[in-house]
Amino acid sequence: AKKQEGNSFAFYDEAHTVKMNRAFNVKTALQQADFDRDFALHYQPVIDVQTGHVVGAEALLRFSHATLGRVSPGEFIPIAENNGLILSIGEWVLRRACRDIGPLIEMMSDRFKLAVNVSIQQLESRTFPFALKAILEETQFPQDRLVLEVTEETSVSHSERVKETINQIKSYGVDISIDDFGTGYSSLEKLHHLKVDQLKIDQSFIRELDETTAIVRAILAMGESLGLSIVAEGVETKDQLDFLKTTTCDYVQGYYFSRPLTFKDFQSFLSNKT
Ligand code: C2E
Ligand code: CA
Ligand code: CA
Ligand code: CA
Repeated sequence: AKKQEGNSFAFYDEAHTVKMNRAFNVKTALQQADFDRDFALHYQPVIDVQTGHVVGAEALLRFSHATLGRVSPGEFIPIAENNGLILSIGEWVLRRACRDIGPLIEMMSDRFKLAVNVSIQQLESRTFPFALKAILEETQFPQDRLVLEVTEETSVSHSERVKETINQIKSYGVDISIDDFGTGYSSLEKLHHLKVDQLKIDQSFIRELDETTAIVRAILAMGESLGLSIVAEGVETKDQLDFLKTTTCDYVQGYYFSRPLTFKDFQSFLSNKT
């Protein structure tokens, strides 16, 4: 028995080492990355539940490295968040997204919004609001067409700085959306206090809709009472869409409509729609 314990410990240790090495390699790759060459933004259409019109797009970052190949954001974003790299990556993302989508805005419906994900480290940085303002000016992107998505955990964590940053961002006319809503612990009071504009229902609730209908209805009622717009993420089937059509949900996003697309494919998607 003793020998087995020893073995399982060694096994754990080895798995841990492999994981640490991988994280180290990803970190090194990010540090050495040529952003314009190794990063790309994909865009996933956001759809009006009732009309089926495209009313927005969410920018999702992709990283492709010479030796590591494609690394998913689920893997590299937490690593970038752990060592400050997310600040320069986040600025690159904002600039790229505003440059890509800016020229399309005029052709789109006047409700069209660009959604960009931001990390807590960006909201905690004193310089972030200035960087954001500079990027909006440099790209001539209309502020009221931008939505920043922050995770529920991020937005309700009680840092004064985060609250100040959110207020400053909102004073530019930029909207704030709470991502992965329902997975954290925000109260009505906190959401009201933060003056957010939108909630995105976490895709886990949409995936298990049979079991989570009551929760989804509760989130929709809560959003309604606060006057927020609501997006349902991860819509993959017609059944899920048909259910959401019977509710006050405003927007939907998911593979049922489209996967995240390269900028070029996103443009084709738009021209096929109109
Ligand atoms: P998220 O913001 O919740 O983005 C939604 C994720 O769900 C994306 O994964 C998207 O490709 C995927 N998705 C969309 N529709 C469906 C569907 O119908 N079914 C399923 N199963 N999945 C769907 P992705 O692109 O791998 O991104 C993962 C996470 O990485 C994002 O979750 C976000 O938290 C983070 N992320 C991505 N880009 C950025 C970025 O530029 N900055 C920051 N800070 N985080 C980012
Ligand atoms: Ca998001
Ligand atoms: Ca989400
Ligand atoms: Ca509504």
